[in-house]
Amino acid sequence: MKVANSRRREMLALYGGRPVKTTPFGSGPKHSLAEWHAIKPLFQRGVIHMTRGPEVMALRQAFAKLFGRKYAVTASSGTAALHAATGALGIGRGDEVITSPITDMGTIVAILAQNAVPIFADVDPLTLMITPETVAAKITPRTRAIILVHLAGLPADARGICRLARKHGIPVVEDMAQSYLTRQGRRYAGTFGVIGCWSLNESKHIGAGDGGVLLTNDRALARRADLFADKCYDREGGKVDPFFAPYNYRLNTLTAAVCLEQLKKVRWICRTRNRYGTRLDRALAAIPGITPRPVRKGDYATYWYYVFSVDPEILGVDSAEFARALHAEGIPCRPAAESVLDWTLFREHVVSRHACAASCPLYKGPRPDYALENYPGLLQVKRRAIRVGMSEYFTPKDISDIIRAVRKVAAFYRGERGG
Ligand SMILES: *Cc1c(COP(=O)(O)O)cnc(C)c1O
Repeated sequence: MKVANSRRREMLALYGGRPVKTTPFGSGPKHSLAEWHAIKPLFQRGVIHMTRGPEVMALRQAFAKLFGRKYAVTASSGTAALHAATGALGIGRGDEVITSPITDMGTIVAILAQNAVPIFADVDPLTLMITPETVAAKITPRTRAIILVHLAGLPADARGICRLARKHGIPVVEDMAQSYLTRQGRRYAGTFGVIGCWSLNESKHIGAGDGGVLLTNDRALARRADLFADKCYDREGGKVDPFFAPYNYRLNTLTAAVCLEQLKKVRWICRTRNRYGTRLDRALAAIPGITPRPVRKGDYATYWYYVFSVDPEILGVDSAEFARALHAEGIPCRPAAESVLDWTLFREHVVSRHACAASCPLYKGPRPDYALENYPGLLQVKRRAIRVGMSEYFTPKDISDIIRAVRKVAAFYRGERGG
């Protein structure tokens, strides 16, 4: 009987076996009554300021202090912060901007909205991020900026990419939307480049519905970003004669008050995710056919979602099949296969009425390479990488269950029983 039981337990849930995860994952509120109390003073004052109210200024100060930067600019979203960055840097028609083909639309908007040309560097198949080598291969005399995306809480090689960029005199903007308090060595990611941009949409480590923050040590850039995001209004008393086409990307005091409250939790959120992610890394590294994303020694990852790779040579299945089986075990996951190059926008070469990109008459480069088959790192990611949901509200048991489920599915596909 015992043998029959254990055999039944090991059968994949996908094929009628018993799923590993039978209890619900831990969950909790993003916002609570603390935020409710934090917004009360606005209503006592009787006004929600559209910009530069006390909560907005306090948020700017708190963000700058947290990351040790001199200037903070608030924006209505992470996308808006990134667009204010390319706007402040003067990126424009015909300019090339190198970035990652695995990212959110927000990164791409910051390039296209300036009528610049997105150029993609290949990703490392295990980290899913661009590297100094893959970026170097895409630098041309037309390269005007690099937007480095720190994906899902893992620090990219910001130090290496900034060193390369400095040699060519190219500014680096770090897209920090998914990587609060992530560090390369002792230094926070987001402080290596000339500008770092964070998102405060509801899905990020901390959020307030929507919102964004841009940090820099460059006073002139901060001022230009501020003007770019606020219709070129000068809130410091001077009179600005708009010298470029700005936007209204303002963050109001209601949102800022919520953000300020969220900031009080960010260390706890990141510490918890780091603990869970580190535990998953250690356990999954011991499973034949499974490889976690590598964290360099001394770096600190904050795991916005969790990623690992399967080895089809050892397991006989790719990420799609493995994720299907793992999902059936009760673990929310899917292949981490989505790439910018899959979008119609790039398959059809980003020509639209308002974002001409490479079809701009001022663009002097060759037609950019948006063909997936020329990105071997990305192709490997598509075959191998799987993303698993992560939350600071997960319990230690949830993490144990994820480990057990990955172990079970891997063992099944390796053809082992009870291994
Ligand atoms: C979320 C996100 C953004 C954009 O943030 P929004 O606040 O939603 O505009 C940009 N880049 C990356 C990598 C993101 O994950």
